[in-house]
Amino acid sequence: MNGIELAHAWEQICSRIKTYNGVSASQVDAIFSRLELQAMSTGCAFITADTDFIRNWVEKYYLDLLKAAFRDIYHTEFTIFLELNNTPSPATPEIVIPDIPLSALTEQTNNQTITYTRTVCETPKTPEYEREAEELLENYEKKVYLQPLTFDNFVIGNSNQTAYKMALAVAQNPGNKQGLNPLFIYGKSGLGKTHLLRAIQNYIESTRPELKVIYVDSSEFLNDYTDSAVERSKDKDSFINFRNKYESADVLLIDDIQSLQYKPGTLDAVFQIFNKFINQGKQMVLSADRSPKNIDIDERYWSRFASGGTFDIQPPEIETKLGIIKSYIDEFNQNEDNVHVIMPVDIQNYIAENSSSNIRELKGAVTIIICRLIDEKTITLSEAADILKEHFHGSGMKKLAISDIQSHVEGFFKIKHADMVGKTRDRNIAYPRQIAIYLCRELIKDASLEQIGEAFGRDHSTAIYSYRTIDKRLDENRETKEEIEALKHIILNDA
Ligand code: ADP
Ligand code: MG
Repeated sequence: MNGIELAHAWEQICSRIKTYNGVSASQVDAIFSRLELQAMSTGCAFITADTDFIRNWVEKYYLDLLKAAFRDIYHTEFTIFLELNNTPSPATPEIVIPDIPLSALTEQTNNQTITYTRTVCETPKTPEYEREAEELLENYEKKVYLQPLTFDNFVIGNSNQTAYKMALAVAQNPGNKQGLNPLFIYGKSGLGKTHLLRAIQNYIESTRPELKVIYVDSSEFLNDYTDSAVERSKDKDSFINFRNKYESADVLLIDDIQSLQYKPGTLDAVFQIFNKFINQGKQMVLSADRSPKNIDIDERYWSRFASGGTFDIQPPEIETKLGIIKSYIDEFNQNEDNVHVIMPVDIQNYIAENSSSNIRELKGAVTIIICRLIDEKTITLSEAADILKEHFHGSGMKKLAISDIQSHVEGFFKIKHADMVGKTRDRNIAYPRQIAIYLCRELIKDASLEQIGEAFGRDHSTAIYSYRTIDKRLDENRETKEEIEALKHIILNDA
């Protein structure tokens, strides 16, 4: 990404954060203008703050929001590296951070307005300064290693080999009349769908430069479509221009199509472009986090989307994970002239065994340890485990709260929240409440029975009683077992 693209991405992130509940736009303006997005790649962003104060502030109060904004925009979990930018920048004499309505902040600051005065920095832009800036930038690149997504660096295992083979076949022979058009690849987040789509694009661009390949994420497509719809009142051609842009491609790859499931206008636009492509024998590739059938769209759409063949990617086996770790480290070393990291095998095993099936999380862990190894040369398994503790538990994943479980169970049994936490002992209410209490105990390991009871307006003995009742019923009653399984699935997939 060049500077302009980074600035644009940063603008999008800032505007997204302002839309979140409880966030003050003026505060975002004041604080985020002091941050800079220096580099980013799939799942990794490197951000610098102009002072320690801002860095700590952001780390404390905005990190989760930042992760959420990256996730919302790029549909991917991000690891955020937040560091101090030592490069002197043109002076800003005084910055006042206005009102602080965020509840988290109020607590910390006793409702006071915080005024932060920045030291005026006199350093002029000298060649010395420029040299330092260059060095710093090199450092960033070392830390946030931008990996190209190609077939060569896609590690093959049982879990992904069919999807890989089909993607390669399409890349070698796009628009082949024999089938695989469209190619549909699906699998949970972080298993390599975008990697395969980008690999197809890279392969075709290098072997068939005469073909025009367009890769687009569905959310970007949605934005584009919405913009063209807004423009239409002024410019009658806006929609035609929008379609022309995509229809000018010879190969069109649309990522994460499930995000269009409740966007009928955009979905229809995709469908029109889709039909034109298939009729003209031009290659389409689609991806989603679930099979076409399970996307909540009309059958006439999904059956067409699935007509060229659908291939899933399953969670990686431990060997595949180890293969990915090794290949990632090798690739890193090959791309670096001045550093060569050696990661002890026990740490590699630890990462493979402890990371979830999400390869993004796995690579995030490897990146964190690589950064450490660059600085410190060696590190022990227990140090590594300590460093990674938060990554594996937090890992950008939303921490499940009691209220999340309550709201899923309320939706599932169609009961009101007031009843869930209210006094009624009516079985239609009491049973879902017991289920919710059971699930809180099972799924939120660090919540005590007191805390759970309290969240339901009850004491801890009622919480224990509810838990035991459901636990016992699970052995006796198939329906309860199925309900619990379904709910666990819904809750964990939402987290
Ligand atoms: P998805 O699009 O399915 O959410 P991505 O394609 O973004 O997942 O993959 C997440 C990360 O894992 C990326 O950094 C990607 O390069 C990496 N990755 C996924 N599968 C593999 C694989 N088989 N070999 C190497 N890297 C992989
Ligand atoms: Mg993806």
